[in-house]
Amino acid sequence: MGGREVTSWDGMHITVAGLGVSGVSAARALAGLGASVTVVDGGDSEALRERAASLEGIDVRLGDAETLPEGTELVVTSPGWKPTSPLFAAAAEAGVDVVGDVEIAWRLRGPDAPPWLAVTGTNGKTTTTQMLASILRAAGLRTMAVGNIGTPIIDIVLGEERYDVLAVELSSYQLHWAPSLRAHSAAVLNLAPDHLDWHGSMEAYARDKGRIYEGNRVACVYNVDATDKPSTEDLVREADVEEGCRAIGFTLGTPGPSQLGVVEGILVDRAFVENRQKNAQELAEVSDVNPPAPHNIANALAAAALARAFGVPAKAVRDGLRAFRPDAHRIEHVADIDGVAYVDDSKATNTHAAEASLAAYESIVWIAGGLAKGATFDELVTRSAKRLRGVVLIGADRALIREALARHAPEVPLVDLDRTDTGAMLAAVREARALSKQGDTVLLAPACASMDMFVNYNKRGDAFADAVRELASEDG
Ligand code: ADP
Repeated sequence: MGGREVTSWDGMHITVAGLGVSGVSAARALAGLGASVTVVDGGDSEALRERAASLEGIDVRLGDAETLPEGTELVVTSPGWKPTSPLFAAAAEAGVDVVGDVEIAWRLRGPDAPPWLAVTGTNGKTTTTQMLASILRAAGLRTMAVGNIGTPIIDIVLGEERYDVLAVELSSYQLHWAPSLRAHSAAVLNLAPDHLDWHGSMEAYARDKGRIYEGNRVACVYNVDATDKPSTEDLVREADVEEGCRAIGFTLGTPGPSQLGVVEGILVDRAFVENRQKNAQELAEVSDVNPPAPHNIANALAAAALARAFGVPAKAVRDGLRAFRPDAHRIEHVADIDGVAYVDDSKATNTHAAEASLAAYESIVWIAGGLAKGATFDELVTRSAKRLRGVVLIGADRALIREALARHAPEVPLVDLDRTDTGAMLAAVREARALSKQGDTVLLAPACASMDMFVNYNKRGDAFADAVRELASEDG
């Protein structure tokens, strides 16, 4: 294990499922290596036809996502295609392997390819991967945050640019379809029910996440504080790793040996130090983490663990964390009005993320609602109730949140806006302001997807920020 899979692509008949960004990248790369590529997509729009026309030398079949083209020797999936898709059933019947873009990228690596430090989890993947890249850069290493982020990973692997190490974000879908991936070290940040419609069950979802540890060489990084079953530590235990690979925990509490944790406001390492029974290495201060919310400190510890597994000095961890700026709409401070902070966490699109976000503030007017994607809200409301000054609900599935509030926090003032139109966000922010008191935080952490009202979570966050600015300017 751990060796390079050598695949001869020349003349191979490959079917790529989906004409999206990753499908196009895979099709181009494989055709460039001499494979005979067919892309299939169930859609047949003008935009798809145009994209198809731009793919020279590649056969594209639109309007049929089910039939396996004759002679197919390998199927390459795109994210979003369910494992139960008829095309994959047809592939299984024909004895043809199905793999994803990450698997292709892994097999395409050159002999002197950089090692991968890999990150997965239900929430915090992008943030942690970017923190990791920032730390590696601070150590003077040539690196890039890739995977589920930005440029398709195949393009990075085949590109001209040379890297010392890659920080790779991997979704559960990508892991499902990447059987031969073997990272240098990997972290599973947390595990909460998500995408269960795709994976079929929590066990299957966890198993796919756990694949990230397979064949790790130096460290399997797990979350000591996440003890729900299966825990991330369970996944480490089940993984088949290289000899000498260590299990490294991260915790918001005092770290034991072979763990990273927090002691009196300091992030400390008791894993990658001489004599870890006695010694600990100071890495950074909690205030170096941006923002210093508990879940984000956990992300920072996981990133630090992977960087330290790669041999990065303590000082680079601190410098990298200080240099890191989170992407927009992730606990983004928009403005203060009358001593109340307005914070945009539109990216909190599920209950687990929203819970982390609500845990970061003491007294909150919470703006929530949208598309629930089958989630229930009882746990979130129970755990967050004591922090709620008030709640404003918008969006299609707000009744689910309203009912959970009625069950577990009936005393919390509630405004149910009963709106899904575009003006609803401004109205919501006005209502939130009316409920707030000095020192409070008005927090957009919807716990739901945005597509009932907005194109995506970015637009939802923008609408919130615009509304806050409008309120501020009315005062001005
Ligand atoms: P992902 O890439 O996994 O979707 P992001 O880094 O983009 O994760 O963060 C998504 C949302 O999840 C953020 O808006 C934040 O509210 C929440 N979040 C981030 N890190 C964590 C964590 N460690 N635990 C729980 N929630 C988190």
